[in-house]
Amino acid sequence: MNQPPVALVPRPAASLILVRDTISGMEVFMIRRSEEADFVKGAHVFPGGGVDVADASVELAAYCEGLDDFEASRLLGVERGGLAYWAAAMRECFEEAGMLLAHDERGEYADLNQPQHVEVFAQWRESVRAGRATLADLCREQQLRLAVERLVYYSHWITPPGRARRYDTRFFVAVAPTAQTPSHDNSETVDHVWIQPAEALERHRRRELHMVFPTIKTLESIANFPTAEALMKFARSPREMPLMAPRVSTTREGRKILVPGDYAYAEVGRLDPDGKGAAVGEIIPGAVVRLSDKVRRITAPNPGFMTGPGTNTYLLGAGGDIAVIDPGPAIDAHVEALLAAAGARIRWILVTHTHMDHSPAAALLQAKTGAELVGMPPPPFGNQDQSFRPDRVPAHGERVKLDGCALRVIHAPGHASNQLCYLLEEEKLLFTGDHVMQGSTVVINPPDGDMRVYLDSLRQLQGEDLAWFAPGHGFLMDKPQEVLERLLIHRLMRENKVLKAVRGAGTATPEALLPVVYDDVAPGLHPMASRSLLAHLIKLKAEHKLVEALGKWSIA
Ligand SMILES: [Zn+2]
Repeated sequence: MNQPPVALVPRPAASLILVRDTISGMEVFMIRRSEEADFVKGAHVFPGGGVDVADASVELAAYCEGLDDFEASRLLGVERGGLAYWAAAMRECFEEAGMLLAHDERGEYADLNQPQHVEVFAQWRESVRAGRATLADLCREQQLRLAVERLVYYSHWITPPGRARRYDTRFFVAVAPTAQTPSHDNSETVDHVWIQPAEALERHRRRELHMVFPTIKTLESIANFPTAEALMKFARSPREMPLMAPRVSTTREGRKILVPGDYAYAEVGRLDPDGKGAAVGEIIPGAVVRLSDKVRRITAPNPGFMTGPGTNTYLLGAGGDIAVIDPGPAIDAHVEALLAAAGARIRWILVTHTHMDHSPAAALLQAKTGAELVGMPPPPFGNQDQSFRPDRVPAHGERVKLDGCALRVIHAPGHASNQLCYLLEEEKLLFTGDHVMQGSTVVINPPDGDMRVYLDSLRQLQGEDLAWFAPGHGFLMDKPQEVLERLLIHRLMRENKVLKAVRGAGTATPEALLPVVYDDVAPGLHPMASRSLLAHLIKLKAEHKLVEALGKWSIA
């Protein structure tokens, strides 16, 4: 049994991102670990390490200024012991870099550069590092108080499972003391540098600096702040702080590490709960992805501006007869891939709506298999697949019985008037078609697209017990209720922008409103945005908030 030990419980740790302003921009402090270090050998990192017992001492807590354990624990979302993370970040920074974020009796950062201090604090550093003294001893003897309120909690990372060493690390950010000169300890750390985040990333790309994933992601996240003050202001603002628990996936280019916010993150977590790294982290047209015992996905080779990585076709069934959801565009290679995967066993072809990227392959696939076509007929507009002739039009709420399972039909008009979602109740998994898609805002294109109806259809889903969205474009999405909340907020914020723009203009054409309302959207996307703008205007007119005369809009 020569397997490496698997650390089941990650060790609590803390890391400190020190920044300072210079005339050429904000810099961050990094140290290089020695090749002999027992963790991340040779890497450039921020000072940090494991939380020690002494970091949680009651005496040390008494020397912490402006923050107690109750408030620290609340900030970190732990029951107790939060303050120890702040203390650990400060201790590690003192041990590894010689910088002490402590206040003297004036309430200022201690001036360690004074000649009479240099030798004294060098000895304290050595004693703390060797475990002969604690930070509490240092504070007592030197009349110092730890400036904990200067360290702002920044992010939370956990090492993926399956590694020999796992850390549960809280990152903090602080502005560095000016009257202190950093130095490495020549033992665990062999070099130190003040560097602009963008330059550190560039040197990493040139393979001049070795860095680990959380360091790289942290540098990316701070690289665009012009000043330390701007970064601190952001760090102190209320914001979402997702747990950064990286997941390892496989792509054609090799291993890819994912974090929350990456599109494949939720799906990789579902398919590879033990973190073995074999789940595929990209969408490959034509490849069969097994999402559960009953559900497989094959993506059509039609990636693009409106279709993202391509249209998803789902195959439903285990062993027996198969149902196809959204056969996709009329592309022979895709139909061949579906036949290769399910062939003669295809008995039902369900369509979510009849846009040209979703249903045209239905007729081709039916000709080969004789399957029953299920869905709503196309509305009479140009961008609709008029070849789609359903054998069965299911009603809202109806359960379509398949082999060994059933799908509940949810009529969800808005993007398309004939949009159906299909709920696999046993997995709480909703096939959304284009009602919800990953990574982009659904275009509402009047007259078939209807904003008011679309928002009502989103609200309708808020009443459903859902665990996953299987969208027409993109990976599986988790936390569907959070997704719905965000979509609704996004649309209502846009609507407020429309009202504000009309109010500001007095009276305006849609062309004049477009660049104002969509000032956050790239101009290349404005032609599509103009359709959604029209949908907003029509909604507001129906609600008697706006009036239209001769193509010009004003407040009602
Ligand atoms: Zn689509």
